[in-house]
This record gives sequence, C-alpha cells and structure tokens, in this order.
Amino acid sequence: MLGLDRDDLVKYFEARGEKRFRATQLMLWLYHKRELNFESMSNIAATLRRVMAEELTVELPQVLTVLESQDGTVKWLMKAQSGDTIETVLIPDGRRQTLCISSQVGCVLDCTFCATGKQGFNGNLGAGEIVGQVLQACLWLQENRPNERLSNVVFMGMGEPLLNFDATFKAIDVFKDDLGFGLSRRRVTVSTAGVVPGIERMCGLTTVALAVSLHAPNDEIRSELVPLNRRYPIEALIDACRAYLESQDVKATITFEYTLINEVNDMPSLALDLAKLLRNFRCKVNLIPFNPFPGSTYQRPSETRIYAFHKLLMDNGVRAMRRTTRGADIDAACGQLVGRVSDRTRRAARYREGVNPIFAPAEKIPTSTVPN
Ligand code: SAH
Repeated sequence: MLGLDRDDLVKYFEARGEKRFRATQLMLWLYHKRELNFESMSNIAATLRRVMAEELTVELPQVLTVLESQDGTVKWLMKAQSGDTIETVLIPDGRRQTLCISSQVGCVLDCTFCATGKQGFNGNLGAGEIVGQVLQACLWLQENRPNERLSNVVFMGMGEPLLNFDATFKAIDVFKDDLGFGLSRRRVTVSTAGVVPGIERMCGLTTVALAVSLHAPNDEIRSELVPLNRRYPIEALIDACRAYLESQDVKATITFEYTLINEVNDMPSLALDLAKLLRNFRCKVNLIPFNPFPGSTYQRPSETRIYAFHKLLMDNGVRAMRRTTRGADIDAACGQLVGRVSDRTRRAARYREGVNPIFAPAEKIPTSTVPN
C-alpha cells in the first residue's frame, strides 16, 4: 500500500466502482493521521474497509534498532523485505529535520571511499520500503520529539537512487503530495554518483533538487574514486547536469558533493580545476571531509587543508559549503552506512580478501542495473 501514489489509489478504487475521493480519505488516514489500521478508518464504509483489508497491506519496514547520537542525530536499522538491513538517518539542524534515506540494499557502484559499497549489493528497495522509512521516522518523531516535524528528505543513504529509478520517483510522488508528506520540491533531494541516463530521464519528469557526487575535477582521479566514471565520464555528466538545469526554472541549482580525502583529491590545484569546471554553472559545492570506517585506508585531510581547499573555491567564484559531520558516535555520518547485506555481488568477500576495488575493471559494473 505504501508503494502506491495518489494516481494508483484512484485507479484502485475506480476499478472497484468506488469514488475517487476514497483515495483522498485513505491517504489522509495514512500520512496525516498516521493510522495504519483499515478498521479504524471510520469515514470509510465498513464493507469497503473489509475489501481493503483483504486486498491491501500496510507494511512498514521493521525497526530493528534506533540509535541516538549526542548531537541529536538518529539512526534506524530497519529490515527490508529481503531480510537485509538498511539504514535511515535523521539529522536535526536548527529548524530543519532532514531524513537521509536508502534506495537500495547495499550498492553496486563500489565507490572506493564509501562503506556501503564494500558491503556489496543485494537488490532494489520497493517504493513502499522507501516511503516506509519516512513513515517510520515520522512515527518516531511524533512519539519522541512531538514538537519536531520532518522538513527535508535526501536520497543520500545506502544505494544509488537513479539505478532504482521507478521506485524512487514513485516514492517521491508520495513525499511531495499534499495528501502524502507534503514536502515541496526543493525539500526532496536525489543524490547520484553520476548515472547519466538517469539524470537525462529526470529532465521534464521531475523538479526535485539534484545533488551529484563529483569528488574530482578530472577523469583520472574520479575514475579511481567512482568506478562508474569510466562509463559516464565528467564531460557527459556535466552535460547531463546542464540539461537538467535547463529543464528547471531559473532559480534551480545543482549541488555537487565533494568528499575531501587527504592527498587524493584535496590538492590546491584541484580546487582551481574544480572552479574552472564549474564556472558559469548554477551550482554550489558541498565539501564533506572523509569519514573513516573500518578497513578504509583513506584519511581525512587536516583542518588546514580543508580550509585551504574551501577558500580557493570561494575565491574563484564557487559557492562552497563545508558539511559538518553529524552522528559520528553512532556511525551515522556520510559514507558510514553499512546495514547488513547478504551480498549478491560477493564484493564484501573480495574486500576482505584485500583485492583493491579501485582497480576493478569497468566491466565489473553489472550492466543489468545500469539503464542504457
Ligand atoms: N549513490 C548516491 C547516494 C549515496 S550518498 C551518491 O553517490 O550520491 C553518498 C554521499 O555520501 C556521497 O556524496 C559521498 O560524498 C558521501 N560519502 C560516501 N562515503 C563517504 C565517506 N566515507 N566520508 C564522507 N562522505 C562520504
């Protein structure tokens, strides 16, 4: 049921000879009153409630653990239908309550600096499981922090949302719908490692905010960090970003994420190259100092190096923000989400055996999950 948007529900009721407004009633119960039991939906006729109870189920991903950080960040471990564990993180920041959600179980892209990739990949989440993470977080807030309301959703948890395109955008329909979570388009962000065909498909289809994980201004370094770059190099990626911007209103911008790794991509010359690459582009850069995780050999740059990189970008006309690390004490920071994945790609085993995934050839990216 949580994987159905308003149009799907209207079709569902019409197919049963019911009026369209039943869809409105049902969504208000679910997403506004957070009533998950059909029996309690008192303004819907008892006979129809019975039919719904027989035909539909409201399945929330089961919460296995909730961890609260000293800084207010909350991390949930939830069980996906596959039995694997996914992670969802709430990041309070002033008046903002941002939920960072997962789109896949593990990730196929194997970016060298990301813990999720090391777990391998075990499949896509359904739209209902994506919506379910948000509903679980709202239920938790209602219970534990009743004065707070969810304000933003970002697809920056586990997985690559543009390789699970249909479920991602079905869930986004529910996020944006006034009868759903009522989030405005700028408050929903899809973050991608650079799936160019996915970005192209977004043009004209959606108006959500786009974040692109860039991490380097040249193909040599980017291909090392993000193996997907061998397939969709920077020039193609930037073209797709430009096309997306052109499909939006004039105020839209793109966010480029840049994980700063000591002496890998934090050299001053790279800041200048990045500024050149992004010149005349409506964008901002989010600098994320690398968060270490067990087994990773990369290091976070010193404060001096981070500051120098940041300043060079700004001095050269790029809007850049440094992201603070949140929830590090509960392993909830960027790139630390691992869940527990029964690895279909055996990547976790290879990682343990010490095969350096940086040098994995591009053909290792399973083509079945990369749209053409
Ligand atoms: N697949 C999507 C969504 C995942 S979000 C994407 O790549 O955008 C992942 C974000 O977390 C990336 O932008 C990356 O910058 C950040 N990240 C991943 N591992 C990290 C780490 N170890 N330290 C800091 N940031 C990391």
